[in-house]
Amino acid sequence: MQYDVAVIGGGPSGAVAATILANAGFSIVLIERNFDNVKPCGGAIPLGLIEEFQIPSELIEKRLSRMKARSPKGRVIDMKMPNGYVGMVRREKFDRYLRVEAERAGAIVVEGLVTSIAQSGDEFVINTLNNKQASIHAKRIIGADGANSNTADALHFPPNELKVIAMQQRFKYTPAIQKFSDIVEIWFDGEVSPDFYGWIFPKADHLAIGTGTEEHHHNIKALQRRFLEKIGITDKPYLDEAAKIPMKPRKSFTQEKAILVGDAAGLVTPANGEGIFFAMRSGKLGALAMIEHLKHGTPLNRYEKEFRKLYAPIFFGLEVLQAAYYRNDRLRESFVAICADNDVQRITFDSYLYKKMIPASWPVQMKIFSKNIYHLIKGS
Ligand SMILES: Cc1cc2nc3c(=O)[nH]c(=O)nc-3n(C[C@H](O)[C@H](O)[C@H](O)COP(=O)(O)OP(=O)(O)OC[C@H]3O[C@@H](n4cnc5c(N)ncnc54)[C@H](O)[C@@H]3O)c2cc1C
Repeated sequence: MQYDVAVIGGGPSGAVAATILANAGFSIVLIERNFDNVKPCGGAIPLGLIEEFQIPSELIEKRLSRMKARSPKGRVIDMKMPNGYVGMVRREKFDRYLRVEAERAGAIVVEGLVTSIAQSGDEFVINTLNNKQASIHAKRIIGADGANSNTADALHFPPNELKVIAMQQRFKYTPAIQKFSDIVEIWFDGEVSPDFYGWIFPKADHLAIGTGTEEHHHNIKALQRRFLEKIGITDKPYLDEAAKIPMKPRKSFTQEKAILVGDAAGLVTPANGEGIFFAMRSGKLGALAMIEHLKHGTPLNRYEKEFRKLYAPIFFGLEVLQAAYYRNDRLRESFVAICADNDVQRITFDSYLYKKMIPASWPVQMKIFSKNIYHLIKGS
């Protein structure tokens, strides 16, 4: 059988794209290499995503509206989200739910590791490891197979440029770590991460603790060990996980007959490493562009243009922030000090929750600018 679209990768980006396309009446195959895949991930998602994609409440293990930011010298700023919360999901459940939604919409969901994609005449022919599935034929392709996308390589997309390697460990709650169970902590500390940050995310029955760094430069395991020492955790983790985070969009992520979405396209924001929202939004925008393309022949690059129009300012702003403040402990100290400002917190959380950049008034902008200069000069 020839499908209209083959979606390769059954994470959030691929599952959302498959659901929307199947709901529109197209024949869709969603190919996931492992239905039991546990994607290494903190699983923190903003309220805006939960609302837009109507995520069932039983998947949200925690709703957290308080966050602590910790500086290298141990200064702790308590931050509050008066207008929302960050939801904590567990990826093995979340991704499975999204794939079931795709199936309910009419997509054929199959298990198999895609090993080759070849163009033959007007169609693509997709093969899986050990021919677990018979060759799959499709008119169009959506590559949703993550940071190390084989689809992108097979179809000669430009490379994923910037990758952070991130490690996370899960700890069952014990009396010693129960105190972390209802607040997000972010550590800006060169000993924990010289160019990113460390996180403590509480889930229903465990704590997820992790850190990241630009690959090759540092030993991620040593950073994670140091992080646990600094927190004072001596419990043994029950799960270790690690993966790359591509924090820069590829130079191009659309072609005439194929598109990339989510991590495969490099759609994770710098500075905070947020990717689930952008995976699902790109899956949605990509699928909508694909529908127009299949119905009316409109070019697929509409999807990329629209994504960049909506989100390039956020990617740029966070890239500048990371370049300005994540370079050394003196700058990190200044950054955490600035987070004490109520307007900074409001702007940060408003833009995080709904990805809307609402410009602050001039007096507020001037105040934040002056505080930036003051703390940068003072170094705290
Ligand atoms: C340690 C860590 C912590 C993170 N924490 C957060 C967080 O708290 N919040 C947040 O928003 N983002 C976080 N991210 C980023 C987030 O996990 C990703 O941006 C998001 O998962 C991207 O979704 P995706 O569907 O594009 O790709 P993925 O989730 O990577 O899904 C890709 C899917 O494709 C499948 N696949 C891969 N290759 C093949 C193949 N050849 N054939 C078939 N299937 C294939 C995989 O099994 C997988 O299911 C974190 C990342 C890491 C590494």
